[in-house]
Amino acid sequence: MPRTSKALAPERIAAILAALRAAYPDVVCALIHRNAFELVIATALSAQTTDVNVNKVTPALFKLYPTPRALAAASLPEIEEIIHSTGFYRAKAKNIQAAARVLVEQFNSKVPTTIDELIQLPGVARKTANVVLGSWFGIASGVVVDTHVLRLSRRLQLTRHTEPVKVERDLIKILPQDRWIQFSHELIHHGRQICLARKPRCADCTLEPLCHSRDKTWSSHR
Ligand code: SF4
Repeated sequence: MPRTSKALAPERIAAILAALRAAYPDVVCALIHRNAFELVIATALSAQTTDVNVNKVTPALFKLYPTPRALAAASLPEIEEIIHSTGFYRAKAKNIQAAARVLVEQFNSKVPTTIDELIQLPGVARKTANVVLGSWFGIASGVVVDTHVLRLSRRLQLTRHTEPVKVERDLIKILPQDRWIQFSHELIHHGRQICLARKPRCADCTLEPLCHSRDKTWSSHR
């Protein structure tokens, strides 16, 4: 789907943002967390699985290991057992423990507040860093591009790229910075509830009048 100047017209972008805000006025990160450390770990665990699955294991994990120091000193097999159901549990257990160790050793057990520092943590890439900065610290350093944001941004012709870093670059150019954080939350919820990957529910979609995706299952444009 090409990005055309019409697709990126400021009034169209403004209309998309207004419709999303009206549909999801109070949307927040769906991962349960009480502090930045828990959000780092929960987001790292959310790779290749759902937030619902992550939320099933994190209460037990954070009860046993409530701080970076406790997680850093934990037994790896015990971590693996707790997070097993989130998939890729061996790599994830190793990464979250290594991240906890880096937090203790290099950041005095405090989660840093810049992308450059956050991506030094094992298992933390740009997406996780943006989630933590946006959802916990309220810092709009970038736009979270997960599978939903990527798919919907393409369907809405906001990007033609498929690599998250390039999609994020496109979104940063066209969205006002004060909408970067909420826009991701809104698209993620819209992707989960309406703009489903296989069979988008276009007849129920608030963005339908603005959408020209070839994947549409219903259109008012005819
Ligand atoms: S109209 Fe359909 S394809 Fe377009 S955003 Fe809505 S659900 Fe997705």
